[in-house]
Amino acid sequence: TERVAEALDAHVPPRRLEVALPGRRYEVITGAGLLGRAGALLAPVLLQKRAVVVTDSTVAPLHLQTLTDGLAATGITVDSLVVPPGESSKSLAGFGDLADRMLALGVERRTTVIALGGGVVGDLAGFVAASVLRGMPFVQVPTTLLAQVDSSVGGKTGINMKAGKNLVGAFHQPIAVLADTDVLSTLPIRELRAGYAEIVKAGLIGDVALYDWCESHAQDVLGGDAACQAEAVRLACAFKARVVGDDEREEKPNDGRALLNLGHTFAHALEAEMGFDGSLLHGEAVGIGLVLAFRLSHRLNLCPGQDTVRVARHLQRAGLKWRLADCGRPLDPERLLAHMRKDKKMRDGRLSFVLVRGIGEAFTSPDVSDADVLAVLAGDDA
Ligand code: NAD
Ligand code: MG
Repeated sequence: TERVAEALDAHVPPRRLEVALPGRRYEVITGAGLLGRAGALLAPVLLQKRAVVVTDSTVAPLHLQTLTDGLAATGITVDSLVVPPGESSKSLAGFGDLADRMLALGVERRTTVIALGGGVVGDLAGFVAASVLRGMPFVQVPTTLLAQVDSSVGGKTGINMKAGKNLVGAFHQPIAVLADTDVLSTLPIRELRAGYAEIVKAGLIGDVALYDWCESHAQDVLGGDAACQAEAVRLACAFKARVVGDDEREEKPNDGRALLNLGHTFAHALEAEMGFDGSLLHGEAVGIGLVLAFRLSHRLNLCPGQDTVRVARHLQRAGLKWRLADCGRPLDPERLLAHMRKDKKMRDGRLSFVLVRGIGEAFTSPDVSDADVLAVLAGDDA
């Protein structure tokens, strides 16, 4: 089996992508078999031969042993802390509990926190790493496609509060990201598709070549072709790295990180309205939100209708939800608009939308009228 593993690795050799930020840089390593070689891959960046792996109880039985063996192989001492799976762990109580358990291990400032899991584990462990002992080195080992292409890169960490998602947190960049395609083989197809929507989003914002690549490789990525998955992760991370490198703390009012919210004002409203009960995953809401952003842009005479059709068709072919009807029950436009008004992306009390002039040409617009948003939500634009 070792030879088989080697052959597979040779098929998807590790590739390194650099995220360059003012005063700091780190690598996103993509490929197969990375968990088992984590010790060797991380050796150059670890400050101490000691790490604490944070993971959830779904991922732990699947991938924790491979990672701890890979770390132990180079003499790294490893502790692990397991949290319940799901968004509820990303809470103030979950944060307090994890921080206490971290401190109980007697960690030091040079001990590295390693997040092994999806975006929930990454955001939670990242926030603990940002705050325990006023900041510990942090490594992301993302295990969902969404985390590999989106949440593990860029340094945003945090937890949910009563007032809303991700409202307390910190910017804390990782010292390395290991995106191993092997872990994607255990991920449910629905989660895989949801992550794929964020790759499409990246292309639609500002990378036509990436979007074109998606149209010809979606079936391979979603069908489990490791080489294509690694390439998709690399392309999407390269895009996000460019955007984040240019605007690390989302301070640019009009372009920069704000553009990463394409489709998200609609998506967050849909998620809030559907109620976070698992019936609509974030990436699924993003798929619908992307099409709505294109339709809104078309209604405002900013974007050709054929681009909207092309995007809708692509998401549909990829098996994603792509229209409001896919939510499974009728949704009231006025209620969705009310959710948008509570979105934290409001600036000076106005709704700020990411719109498009076409595929790969997103921009932010502060002056979209409620009437146009409502018309699109009501389907009056068709
Ligand atoms: P998640 O972390 O909840 O993972 C989804 C489910 O898949 C969980 O049940 C998990 O246990 C399971 N899982 C994870 N890896 C698996 C694997 N390899 N095999 C089988 N099951 C596996 O969800 P997510 O979609 O990865 O992340 C969503 C979170 O990410 C949200 O909280 C969101 O706010 C956050 N996020 C953060 C950023 C950022 O920049 N920090 C960006 C986007 C999203
Ligand atoms: Mg998103």
